[in-house]
Amino acid sequence: MDLGLRDKVVIVTGGSKGIGEGIVRSFLAEDAKVVIVNRSTAEGEHLEAEHTEQGKNCYFVQGDLTRVEACRDAVEKTLEKYGRIDVLVNNAGVNDGVGLDAGTDAFLGSLQRNLVHYYAMAHYAICELKKNKGSIINITSKVADTGQGNTSGYAASKGGINALTREWAVDLVEYGVRVNAVVPAEVWTPLYEKWIQTLDHPDETLNQIRSLIPLEARMTTKEEIADMVVFLASPRSSHTTGQIIYVDGGYTHFDRKCTSRR
Ligand code: NAP
Repeated sequence: MDLGLRDKVVIVTGGSKGIGEGIVRSFLAEDAKVVIVNRSTAEGEHLEAEHTEQGKNCYFVQGDLTRVEACRDAVEKTLEKYGRIDVLVNNAGVNDGVGLDAGTDAFLGSLQRNLVHYYAMAHYAICELKKNKGSIINITSKVADTGQGNTSGYAASKGGINALTREWAVDLVEYGVRVNAVVPAEVWTPLYEKWIQTLDHPDETLNQIRSLIPLEARMTTKEEIADMVVFLASPRSSHTTGQIIYVDGGYTHFDRKCTSRR
């Protein structure tokens, strides 16, 4: 399906790994021009080289988004390279296990890693998004609804991201800028692998989680998250704004009886 994204300029934070990489590849498959922002360089540079070779437009910007200047720099470099911004995908984040015992400095650090750069990226990109009737897609987490335990900073950030999705949708409706959020629950990525390895019985826990996912008892793929993101960015979703959409095989909301049979 042609989603009408050809030559649209898209920024994907944390686009070189995991869900972000899936999102980047899906936009490139639609012939969008994609800018990736990450701290590490190897994967981002590889993605840029791989797609440039294929005649696609993919540009890697190195930066640590916990620094507000890096957010501004990413927006400026995008404008220097491609001259406009149509879509912002706020995706970078880390489930960093900052719980109640960790203290306020650690809590604020977690908000910097997970929430503040979503705002900063939107702040710096907003003139362009208004000019182009663009769109913002925020990647959030089921943890905002369910809790997880020992991850106050991450949970507060994701709850904040859900609230900002509605707030920005209201703010920007008069400019024709749509703002939506996509909620993953269980997607196999480097972040997920790192988290599961912190548990006492990772393999057992993983099998248990899989068995509890109502649709096909399997994890969501990063491509399935990416498909929703490109749809929400596209004119095919032209009357969808302020929505928080769960791409999770029914994991977050289904009645317990759907999983207790297994
Ligand atoms: P991932 O595999 O760790 O990828 C996250 C990406 O963000 C990495 O590319 C990381 O790259 C980048 N990043 C993190 N902090 C950054 C910073 N300060 N500056 C620049 N880049 C940064 O994680 P993922 O599982 O794909 O998660 C992506 C999003 O989905 C996150 O917002 C996460 O909360 C959400 N999510 C994931 C799941 C899941 O099951 N996987 C579930 C719910 C929500 P560098 O290290 O190179 O910077």
